[in-house]
Amino acid sequence: MVFNTFQMYRKDMYQKLQDAYNRAAKYNYQLGVKLVRGAYMEKERERAETLGYQDPIQIDKNATDEDFNRGLKFCVEHINSIGLCCGSHNENSTRYLTELMGKYNISPNDPRIYFSQLYGMSDNISFNLSNAGYNVAKYLPYGPLNEVIPYLLRRAKENTAIAGQSSREYILLKKELARRSTNSQDS
Ligand SMILES: Cc1cc2nc3c(=O)[nH]c(=O)nc-3n(C[C@H](O)[C@H](O)[C@H](O)COP(=O)(O)OP(=O)(O)OC[C@H]3O[C@@H](n4cnc5c(N)ncnc54)[C@H](O)[C@@H]3O)c2cc1C
Repeated sequence: MVFNTFQMYRKDMYQKLQDAYNRAAKYNYQLGVKLVRGAYMEKERERAETLGYQDPIQIDKNATDEDFNRGLKFCVEHINSIGLCCGSHNENSTRYLTELMGKYNISPNDPRIYFSQLYGMSDNISFNLSNAGYNVAKYLPYGPLNEVIPYLLRRAKENTAIAGQSSREYILLKKELARRSTNSQDS
């Protein structure tokens, strides 16, 4: 199985998703779509400036969010010819995809739709989805240390959103520890 990655932080990506679908329909194959927002925003902007072409990135985060959700809707509405992997830690988009699946009578464990989060991140989303019967894959980058560590450092540096998500998880973990410690004192 091959999934093409569609980075919805690019202005042209929703159109590319439709083009890829039309091509798959024309040549009669299933399109594998891994939908992500995109992790290399700063790098892409720098490159565009250095090489003197138009910034390919959406005008703001809202525009990226809108296109990501439009992409989810497009895939669900064409699910007969698409295999979808939703690679996201965004709670709203994740919830939106579950709602779309409900609306179109797609069962949570339908093999054409996967949710995916990075290993070590957003377990709150992965576990809740999995407990509710949805297909979830934890994405685990692996390889030689000299390749994996720079990859992880780049992600931490480039993806300013990681800090927000991590602190949100930290707050959830602290809340759960406090809840368990209160429960054990009660019993
Ligand atoms: C399973 C999995 C596989 C992945 N594979 C890839 C991959 O192959 N290639 C890749 O590039 N990324 C990949 N990513 C990373 C992904 O693209 C995102 O960077 C990351 O998941 C954060 O986005 P989010 O959907 O979780 O939501 P959020 O945290 O809500 O969104 C953050 C994202 O919004 C976008 N954004 C933030 N600020 C702005 C702004 N001012 N203007 C426009 N857009 C903005 C950026 O894309 C940023 O990463 C993967 C992520 C997962 C979970």
